[in-house]
Amino acid sequence: MTVRWGLIGASTIAKQFMIDAIRAQSDGEIAAVMSSNPERATAYARENSIPLAVSTLDGLLEGGIDAVYISTTNELHLEQALAAIKAGKHVLCEKPLALTSADARQMIAAANAAGVVLGTNHHLRSAGAHRAMRDAIVAGRIGKPIAARVFHSVYLPENLQGWRITRPEAGGGVVLDITVHDADTLRFVLGDDPVEISCFTQSAGMAGAGLEDGAMCVWRFKTGVIAQSHEGFTTKFADTGFEVHGSEGSLIARNVMTQRPVGSVLLRTAAGEEDIQFDREDLYTRSLRQFHAAIRGEGQPSATGEDGVWSLSAAEAALQSSKSGQAVAIDPKLGSAN
Ligand code: NDP
Repeated sequence: MTVRWGLIGASTIAKQFMIDAIRAQSDGEIAAVMSSNPERATAYARENSIPLAVSTLDGLLEGGIDAVYISTTNELHLEQALAAIKAGKHVLCEKPLALTSADARQMIAAANAAGVVLGTNHHLRSAGAHRAMRDAIVAGRIGKPIAARVFHSVYLPENLQGWRITRPEAGGGVVLDITVHDADTLRFVLGDDPVEISCFTQSAGMAGAGLEDGAMCVWRFKTGVIAQSHEGFTTKFADTGFEVHGSEGSLIARNVMTQRPVGSVLLRTAAGEEDIQFDREDLYTRSLRQFHAAIRGEGQPSATGEDGVWSLSAAEAALQSSKSGQAVAIDPKLGSAN
C-alpha cells in the first residue's frame, strides 16, 4: 500500500530533506502541498513536482491523503495536527510539537483516540553516529556513564534568519529550535530521562524581540548522569560534537549534531583508541521508513509524540530556569495524556 503524503507548510526543511526522504520510500508518494499563500503553494508545487497545490487545510485533508508532514512555524503545529488527526490522517510533526507541552499532550491524546500514528521529527535519533554511541553504551563499552557534553552551537544560515530570531509568538528562539533536539538526543543516546535543568541564555546580537540566540544548559538525569549542552545561532566557527564519559571509557563524537550522515565517533579506553564505524544512511530517509512501518502496525516512529513532549518539557524548563535563575524540574506529565 502506498502512503500518500500531504505537506502542511511550503517550508525549507521539506524542500531540503523531507520531500526526498518521502520519495526515497518504495511506498511513499507526495500528493499535495499546502501553503497559506496560493501563489507560493503553486510555485512550490511546480518546483518540487507535487501534483496538487492548495491554500487551505480542508483542501489538503480532502485530497485523498493518508498522512501529513507538518513543517509550518511552531505556533501552527497544534491546530493543524488536531485537524489532521480529526480527519483520520497519520501525523509526522516537526519539533517542537507545539508551543507548550500541555498542547503537545493534547496532540497525543487526540492521536490515541483516533488510532492514528503521531511522530516527532527528531532526526538525530536516526543518525548512525548516535545509534552507534547508544549501542556502545548498552554493550558496556564505557562502563557506567558518568557525564555527557553536547556542542550544538551553529551559525543560523541567512535564509533562515526570519521568524526564529524575530517572532516569539511563532515559537522563535534557540531553545525551542535546538535545545529540544539536544534533549531528545541525550535521552536517546544515554537511554535515560532528564529530571532537572539549569539554563543561562543570551542574546548575542542576532535575535531581537527578547528572544535568545544562545543557551548553555546543565542537566541531571535519573541515573545520576550529569550533562552540559551549548546551543547557539551566532557562532560561525564552532564545531558540533557529543561526548559521553564513563567509568571505563569515553565516546567522543565530532560533527554529529547535524542534518547529514557525517562525522566521527571515537571510543577511548584503557586499551587505546578505536574509530567506531557507523551507518551513513540519510537521517530523514531512515525516520520516514520507520514511520511507514508504524503506519503498517510495525513498531513506533523513531521519535514518538511522547518523545516530543519530553523534549518540549525540557525546553520549557530551560526557559523557566533562564528567567528565574533556579534549576527547574523536568516533568513531561505523560500520565495525563492517556
Ligand atoms: P521556513 O521558514 O522555511 O518555513 C516555515 C513557514 O514559513 C512555511 O510553512 C511558509 O508558510 C513560510 N515561508 C517559508 N519560506 C517563505 C518565503 N520565502 N516567503 C514567505 N513565507 C515563507 O521554516 P523551516 O523549514 O526552517 O522550519 C519549519 C519547521 O520545521 C519548524 O517547526 C522548525 O522547527 C522545523 N525544522 C526542523 C528541522 C529538523 O531537522 N527536524 C530542521 C529545520 C526546521 P506557508 O507554508 O504558509 O507558505
